[in-house]
Amino acid sequence: LFVCFEGGDGAGKTTQVRLLTDVLEKKGREVLVTRQPGGTPLGAQIRELVLHGDHVAARAEALLFAADKAHHVDQLIKPALADGKVVITDRYVDSSITYQGAGRELGADEITALQHWAVGGLLPDLTIVLDVSPEVGRERRGDVHDRLESEADAFHAAVRRGYLELASQDPERYLVLDASKPVEHLHAAVVDGIDRVTRG
Ligand code: C5P
Ligand code: MG
Repeated sequence: LFVCFEGGDGAGKTTQVRLLTDVLEKKGREVLVTRQPGGTPLGAQIRELVLHGDHVAARAEALLFAADKAHHVDQLIKPALADGKVVITDRYVDSSITYQGAGRELGADEITALQHWAVGGLLPDLTIVLDVSPEVGRERRGDVHDRLESEADAFHAAVRRGYLELASQDPERYLVLDASKPVEHLHAAVVDGIDRVTRG
């Protein structure tokens, strides 16, 4: 089972990843929790370069995030799935489609092709989009820690539209939740969503 959490900065992905992991582990599942960018040592270096280094040209940014994923899938995600583990990732290809494709205006189609190539076509069984408005996202993330978080509301609004568009194209494999709802409410909806895909 391969599950991905997506959504704008400040949506609450990390909290939901943790709560879902606890539930699955209590059920006796082995879970690999990971994130993009930065899930491997190489990925951590890429993350540092893109988020905290000097200016990176938009296309270079897209390629660096793609390289992070290519390595990550090969080194961690594929082996874990082959071992029968549940893989939960905080961000995956859709972050690139929305942030670089929609936010940076590189074009969703081109970034989708690049990302699918990078991951060899390996896509999550379920992607949970925590839908957050630019305003709520800005309040929740508080002090800005990296370059992308500091983008204007218009950038985050484009990212948000990108997610909703992706979800509407493939409703079977997406669960869109209103991230302004209480944590426990969201968690229950996540667990329902996982039950749906594992039964179906
Ligand atoms: O969610 P996390 O804090 O790990 O994301 C790190 C930063 O990288 C975020 O600001 C996110 O907006 C950005 N990002 C991006 N493109 C991706 C993945 C993450 O711009 N493909
Ligand atoms: Mg962040």
